[in-house]
Amino acid sequence: MVQGIANWNTGETQEWLQQYVDDWVAFYRKHTNDGNVASYIPILAEADPDDLGITIIGNNGLSVRSGDTEIPFTLQSISKAITFIVACMERGVSYMLDNVDVEPTGEAFNSIMHLEMKPVKKPLNPFNNAGAITVTSTLPGDTSEERLEPVFQLLEKILGYRPSLNVDVYESERESSNRNRAIGYYLLEVGFLDSDLNATLETYFKQCSINVTLDDLARIGLILANDGMDPKNGEEMMPRQVARLTKVLMLTCGMYDASGKFATYVGIPAKSGVSGGILAAVPPRVRDETMPFTDGCGIGVYGPALGDKGNSIAGTRLLRHIATQWDLSIF
Ligand code: GLU
Repeated sequence: MVQGIANWNTGETQEWLQQYVDDWVAFYRKHTNDGNVASYIPILAEADPDDLGITIIGNNGLSVRSGDTEIPFTLQSISKAITFIVACMERGVSYMLDNVDVEPTGEAFNSIMHLEMKPVKKPLNPFNNAGAITVTSTLPGDTSEERLEPVFQLLEKILGYRPSLNVDVYESERESSNRNRAIGYYLLEVGFLDSDLNATLETYFKQCSINVTLDDLARIGLILANDGMDPKNGEEMMPRQVARLTKVLMLTCGMYDASGKFATYVGIPAKSGVSGGILAAVPPRVRDETMPFTDGCGIGVYGPALGDKGNSIAGTRLLRHIATQWDLSIF
């Protein structure tokens, strides 16, 4: 599918770039057969496993969209990055770092075991479920609506519209939430939660169920790539310190227990979710000028067929290919 690409400064188009991405999306679409859609949240199993799409938005407005770019999907674990940013903005970075550590676990995202195996004073990082539920417990407010309001406000500021809650996904997750409730009760037992467990879990299920598109992920990635600033108008969307810390966590913990491999072979701060989305932030780099996006870009990838670690299988391979070819790695 060829869609227009344009640079918002010059109006210039680059057809070769579009053709290149189209060709590789077609190639990696076959890799969706190597994965499976998530089914532990029943409604997620309804996604089409063959879907694959990518949106890239560059700092100068150059953008490329290819494949299934119009399908809305829910944030799932990508919401953990957003709520961490909001919690840092609401409660302060030092408060958040007192409540949650910044260490990769090497365990599955929904592991409870790692909390018991070693004596820890706080959950190991904000991007596994234990840490994310803890982060959600720090959001101010009594009800899930009150707690999510600053999350929706930040998204609205970045995206230019207020995303919707997918009530069907929320209810499906809520009804199949035994494991997250178990994690929540464990966190309550050891004193890691900052507020009421039930309101925290309700907020968590809802944050995971916010609808987004690939353009939305690319736009959030672009803001992170620019340390919190919108490159279009210079407006600060989040403090620089918060954006930078979030990128560190994305790089070290953002791709579940495949984060080390992703950092090694792709080398871009990224956060995935079990709906099949990947949010990636590519900061400006000093590189060969002929490479596209040397001045940075945000990337959104969608491919609901997941590999064994819970990341989009074809999406990860597509991202690896493009990052290698265009030298997008931050290292
Ligand atoms: N809502 C999902 C859960 O808590 C998010 C997990 C994910 O995307 O990794 O199980």
